[in-house]
Amino acid sequence: MTTEKTYFRPRSLEEAVQLAAAHQHDFRFLAGGTDVLVNKFHETDTCGCLIDLTGIAELKQVYQEAGRLRIGALVTLDELQRHREVATIFPVLPEAAAAVASPVIRKTATLGGNLLCENRCIFFNQSEWWRQAVGFCLKCSGDTCIASGGKQNCFSKFSSDIAVALISMDATIEVFDQGTRQDIPLESIYSGDGVNPRTLSPAALIRSVGIPLDRDYRSVFKKLRRRKSLEFSSLTSVVTTDRQGHIQIVLGGVDPRPVVVKGTTADERGALIQKAVKKARIVNNDPYPRLYRKEMIGVYLNASFDMLNL
Ligand SMILES: Cc1cc2nc3c(=O)[nH]c(=O)nc-3n(C[C@H](O)[C@H](O)[C@H](O)COP(=O)(O)OP(=O)(O)OC[C@H]3O[C@@H](n4cnc5c(N)ncnc54)[C@H](O)[C@@H]3O)c2cc1C
Repeated sequence: MTTEKTYFRPRSLEEAVQLAAAHQHDFRFLAGGTDVLVNKFHETDTCGCLIDLTGIAELKQVYQEAGRLRIGALVTLDELQRHREVATIFPVLPEAAAAVASPVIRKTATLGGNLLCENRCIFFNQSEWWRQAVGFCLKCSGDTCIASGGKQNCFSKFSSDIAVALISMDATIEVFDQGTRQDIPLESIYSGDGVNPRTLSPAALIRSVGIPLDRDYRSVFKKLRRRKSLEFSSLTSVVTTDRQGHIQIVLGGVDPRPVVVKGTTADERGALIQKAVKKARIVNNDPYPRLYRKEMIGVYLNASFDMLNL
C-alpha cells in the first residue's frame, strides 16, 4: 500500500518553491505553526499537506541592502522584540511584536506567519460542532454573515499587529512565486474580502520584509484588548510620521484589511482621523461592541497625534 506524503521539510528556498508548485491546491507553508495548526485543529483549515520552512537558514537573516533593512520571514517575534539594530532604527517593531500573544507563543511565531495569519471572527474561530450548532457563516461555506446580521460580505477582522506597524513605514515584502522574485508593497497583498483576505497565490513564499532606512520614522503603537497578554486585537492603531512630514495612519482589527489613511503635517488632524473612522467596516465580531471600538479609534488616534506633537 502506498500513502501520499503530507509533511515536507525542504532545506532551501528553491526546494520549497518546487514543492509548493507541486502541491499548489492543497498545502500550507508551516513556519511557527501557531496559526496554521490551531486552524487545522478547529477544522477551519483542511489542507492536506504541510511544507515546513524552518530548515531554510536564509529566511532567518536580518541585514541591510539597497537602502532597506531586510528582516527574514522566519525571524521569530521573540527575536524581533530583542534585536538591537531593529530596536534602534524602528522601535515600533519590537513594541508591536511584544503585543502579540504570549512569551511562549512568540518563541515560535514568526514574522512571515504573522503577516499571513488568518482573519478572525467570533463566529468563525470556534470548533466544528460549535459552528455547526450556530449555523455556518460565509467564511466556512455558509450563505450569510452572522456578525453583520445577514449581509452577503464577510467582515472577519484583519488580525496581524505587526503588519499594521510595517505598513505605516511603507514596508515591502520579497515574494517568490512560480519562478519569479518580486518586491511588492505589503499593503497591496490584503484584499478586503474576509473570506479570501489576501491576493497572493497559495504558492507564494515570503522571503523577507524590507523597510526604508532613510526616513527617520517616528511612530506610536496602540492596541485595545481585554488583558495585556494572549489576546487578539479589538483595535490596533499606528500613526507614523517621517522627516518630510508624511503621516500614515494604519488600523488593524476593525476591517477585513488594514485601514490606511495617508496625509501630511499640513492636513487637519480631525479630518484625517474622521477618514480613518469612516473607512473601518466594524461589525459585532469581537468581544467589545462595535460602537465602542469605533469610538476608540478617535481616542487612540488623537492620543497618538498628541504624543508625536502633530
Ligand atoms: C493564543 C494566540 C494568541 C495570538 N495573539 C495574536 C495577537 O495578539 N496578534 C497577532 O498579530 N497574532 C496573534 N496570534 C496569531 C499568530 O500566532 C501570530 O500571528 C504568529 O506570528 C503567526 O506566525 P507563525 O510562524 O506561527 O505562522 P504559521 O501558523 O506557521 O503560518 C501562518 C500563515 O502564514 C503562512 N506562512 C508562514 N510563513 C510563510 C512564508 N514565509 N511565506 C509564505 N507563507 C507563510 C502559512 O502558510 C499560514 O497560512 C495569536 C495566536 C494564538 C494561538
